[in-house]
Amino acid sequence: MSDGPVYSVVAPVFNEVGNIRLFYREVKGALDSTGETWELLLVNDGSTDGSLELMLKLASADQRLRVISFARNFGHQIAVTAGVDYAVGRAIILIDADLQDPPAVIPRLIDKWKEGFDVVYAVRAERRGESVWKRLSAKLFYRLIHRITDINIPLDTGDFRLMDERVAQVLRQMREHRRFIRGMTSWVGFKQTGVEYVREERVWGETKYPLRKMIAFGLDAVTSFSFFPLQIMIYLSLVLGVASLLVGIVITFLRLTQGEEFFGGQATTIVLLLLLSSFQLFFLFVIGQYVARTYDESRDRPLYVIAATAGLAGRKTAQRRQGAAEPGSATAAAIVREPVEAAPHAGA
Ligand code: UDP
Ligand code: MG
Repeated sequence: MSDGPVYSVVAPVFNEVGNIRLFYREVKGALDSTGETWELLLVNDGSTDGSLELMLKLASADQRLRVISFARNFGHQIAVTAGVDYAVGRAIILIDADLQDPPAVIPRLIDKWKEGFDVVYAVRAERRGESVWKRLSAKLFYRLIHRITDINIPLDTGDFRLMDERVAQVLRQMREHRRFIRGMTSWVGFKQTGVEYVREERVWGETKYPLRKMIAFGLDAVTSFSFFPLQIMIYLSLVLGVASLLVGIVITFLRLTQGEEFFGGQATTIVLLLLLSSFQLFFLFVIGQYVARTYDESRDRPLYVIAATAGLAGRKTAQRRQGAAEPGSATAAAIVREPVEAAPHAGA
């Protein structure tokens, strides 16, 4: 299929039944205004609220709408990955389905792409309708990541972005399980730029990112792009080593000059012992994070399992297209299970 659409819009959907219709309409409005061809890939990430049924209904009325439905909830980053795997557009746009990323911004991303940029990320100049806590933690998080990682991840950007097909092609080869997509697209390189926008309030429903998931996501981000947490141990060990030497000298001196009873107490020993044990356990946790991820990657399970698709019959995933030219990619080809066609689509 050489004559695919110019644009592929990819949106992950997890229980967004109240948003889908308006989202589809806004995407349609924004892309129709370009006068070029497009497709919208909705990835149903295990919704239980009727989102899938609504998506299939809309897809049966519009050939440009395609649906990938997972066998269960695999998480936002994996859903986006599946969308990119299947997309065939010359530019791929990642966007949330809850209208926090306004589809009206898409033409501005496209303009930059036409100027020759390969990645155009949307920068949140302002965030509306989010708690002070969420805004503050997000701000701190992006600055921390920026400081400690080796690649230049732009501040205050989410996954809302446009990427050229050559960037997507690289992304499709990056099969890591713990995915931090905004970091991964930065890692690829090429010409990248940002466009500012106002992040809107969620139109309907609640955030699917509670604190627990945010922390897990943060750990993935840090471990994916930095060894800093492993490296800080050397500093602490040096500080403690020097401290123990100095304390040893001082105690010896005091005992020799003042008598035996100096520093005879157990309290200090107990407190120090607990403090040091706590440090050690903390760093065991840090090492454990990397070890667990290494295990996760080496086990190399498929990233996702697809239960059904609509509008994608006959479309080979990027994995498979690539697989043909690349020896030894049998495991990559197995990543996408044979999808079942859920809604008939003529000649898709
Ligand atoms: N999402 C998903 N799987 C999940 C969690 C979220 O596909 O496990 C989707 C969700 O439907 C939305 C996008 O990812 O389209 C962003 O999620 P959300 O709005 O909850 O995150 P927030 O904007 O609050 O950070
Ligand atoms: Mg949101």
